[in-house]
Amino acid sequence: MEGLCSRNERFPVVNAAMSTPPVPTPLTEAARVLVVEDEKRIADFVGRGLEGAGYTVAVAPNGAAAMEMLHALDYDLIILDLNLPDMDGLHLLKRIRNRRSTPAVMVLSARGDVDDRVKGLELGADDYMPKPFAFPEFLARCKALLRRGASMPERFQVGDLVLDALRRKVTRSGETIDLAPKEFSILEYLMRYRGKPLSRSMIVEHVWDMDYDGLTNIVDVYIRHLRSKIDDRYPVKLIQTVRGIGYMIEIPTDNKV
Ligand code: CA
Repeated sequence: MEGLCSRNERFPVVNAAMSTPPVPTPLTEAARVLVVEDEKRIADFVGRGLEGAGYTVAVAPNGAAAMEMLHALDYDLIILDLNLPDMDGLHLLKRIRNRRSTPAVMVLSARGDVDDRVKGLELGADDYMPKPFAFPEFLARCKALLRRGASMPERFQVGDLVLDALRRKVTRSGETIDLAPKEFSILEYLMRYRGKPLSRSMIVEHVWDMDYDGLTNIVDVYIRHLRSKIDDRYPVKLIQTVRGIGYMIEIPTDNKV
């Protein structure tokens, strides 16, 4: 490091905090970050810093632009300002969380009071930084979020049953199993919460996105279809009926190693 700054350096670094350039992280594919920020000065500052750290950065100056960009491309991390010219950042956060892809979200806002902070986290923000902030801390937190995101399971396995959520592929004992979209959603939901009983109403709300009244039977019908595809032909039955509650997926206790 010493050799980088000669004594004749024309613009000596004056601020100790700024003297450490972000060390580029070797990434096979640069993580994509979307900065949603209307204040150009901050957007530039954050964007340049993140690019310096090796990330691919896009900037959206308002909520509408952010929504459009999110539709066009999946991002790994979203830096979200709360005071946007066209909408409340919290509203945007809610819409981001309703989408299928699940980027990490860091809320960045001058609204540092506890209420906003709590609300932001409740709405699914992964972290919250009040402005003003120190870039090194901000970068460290971004890295932590991206690390967490990288290990977020999109591939689930219960015994020899494997579900790849990204490729929308299901195999059991290495054989590919074709599922209808709703069957896939139910299975993904069960596998995501492996070992936890899920009620019929939870399944309806999650998969059909509507109220549960009168739809219990549909869940039973779909579970029957699912079982015929992933369980019936195999000795170990993974989908279990939990009496009085609903269903759960797990290797039955007597089959566990
Ligand atoms: Ca703003």
